[in-house]
Amino acid sequence: MLLCCLAGTVTARQSEVGFSQAELNYLQHKGELSYCIDPDWMPFEGVDTQGRHMGISADYLQLLQQKLPVSFRLVPTKNWAQSLQYAKDRRCDFLPLAMKTPERSSYLNFSTVYLNIPTVLVTSIDKAYLTDFSDLPPQAIGVRRGYGFIELYKNQYPALHIMQYDSYDEGLLAVQQGILYGFLGNMGSISYSLQQNKMHNLKIAGRLHGDSELSFASRNDEPLLGSILQKLLLRLPTQQQQQINNRWFSIRYEQGVDYKLVWQVLAGAAALGLLWLWAYLKLNRLNKALTKANAELEQLSQHDPLTGLYNRQFFDQKLQDALALCQRQQLTLTVAMMDLDHFKQLNDECGHLYGDACLRQFSSLCRSYFQRPQDMLVRYGGEEFMLISVGTEASAMEKLLRAFVGVIASTEINHDEHCRSCTISIGAYSDVPDLLLDKKFLLQQVDEALYQAKKQGRDQLVLIPAQQSGSELTQTTKQP
Ligand code: GH3
Ligand code: MG
Ligand code: MG
Repeated sequence: MLLCCLAGTVTARQSEVGFSQAELNYLQHKGELSYCIDPDWMPFEGVDTQGRHMGISADYLQLLQQKLPVSFRLVPTKNWAQSLQYAKDRRCDFLPLAMKTPERSSYLNFSTVYLNIPTVLVTSIDKAYLTDFSDLPPQAIGVRRGYGFIELYKNQYPALHIMQYDSYDEGLLAVQQGILYGFLGNMGSISYSLQQNKMHNLKIAGRLHGDSELSFASRNDEPLLGSILQKLLLRLPTQQQQQINNRWFSIRYEQGVDYKLVWQVLAGAAALGLLWLWAYLKLNRLNKALTKANAELEQLSQHDPLTGLYNRQFFDQKLQDALALCQRQQLTLTVAMMDLDHFKQLNDECGHLYGDACLRQFSSLCRSYFQRPQDMLVRYGGEEFMLISVGTEASAMEKLLRAFVGVIASTEINHDEHCRSCTISIGAYSDVPDLLLDKKFLLQQVDEALYQAKKQGRDQLVLIPAQQSGSELTQTTKQP
């Protein structure tokens, strides 16, 4: 296999390398330079179906060839082990890509390193990221048979359980099948194999110390060859080397960051975030519905459905609170019991529905009259209503209540073809309560005042006289 057939004369390009006369004589004497490669080590080197040399080392040799007066000739071998043996037996002059080891140095000279390939560990995607062999679990690790780092790592880490495979494809398959914890090798070959075999469930799980440092290795019994290859290599423009590397290494690798894992973690975090948001929104919706239901329930439990005023259950507690407050702070408390007069008769004459309309009308008039925040209106029974008011002077309250009696009497209620007015009687207490006054006695007094109002002809207010603690009502007032 000749990469180029030029021989004999030294061209301008060749002379710029600066070969010594001895080197030129050597080349002239050799006529060609034979070499061996690893036939199955893509993208570094390999042979195609026609046995032609391809890969990175082929591209390098093609460049070097232009500066040499002799041609290169590939000596075919079955595998890398045989190539090494051929080099040892001097059946080939050099190996274009070889790693320096103590054993190989006994029969080969090595040029400066021109390819530095990180050593990486490939595992299934569920394994953790690694940076050191000491982090490796005791399970078997695969490597390619015959490669330089086996010799090095076996010395450095005697406990390492290494299994050798003839090809990267085979070794990576063993990782996929769970036979191996991982496969160790140079990143170029591993990336190439992962891509070729579309092994998407494997990942590069770490970069380990000890890169594959690759050089030209030439027979050491002909040291001039070593210096020729070294000179050629040093004259090779970096840009051209970079182009070769870019062509073959399509996978980018960045040390220390397992981006696949990072994306997995980010995707997981995003999924959790969305789940949390969904749960939050759902909970928020439920909370709003619950708050609304509670408000409705509270409204129902505290209010009378016909009039919308507070109901009697609510009144009992509120009266107790208002009484205690007024006793504590010496404020005026007004409690007025209002009863519609002759309501039974009104129902009988105009019907129950008209009676209901009267109750609603009365309630809304109540609201418009007693609308301060300290006023509370309650439907106490059928046609009986209660007002609790805190803080307003008794005289003002008396005026207001009296006016209210008049307003009710003069308001006509138009409903169901009936139009008439009704009157109310009010028994009321309005005073700063004595500390000994209790709720029950207060209600009794108010009830008695109402009774008096009814007895005195209805349509009027009877106010319990100030500071009266007994049951005798000395002052009664008639609606003017
Ligand atoms: P008084 O002047 O002495 O208070 O006479 P009254 O007829 O108003 O009193 P009584 O206690 O004898 O009758 C109250 C009436 O109120 C009887 C009942 O039919 C009526 N009533 C109670 N609740 C309702 C209601 O929700 N709707 C209607 N339409 N009537 C009601
Ligand atoms: Mg009544
Ligand atoms: Mg009544």
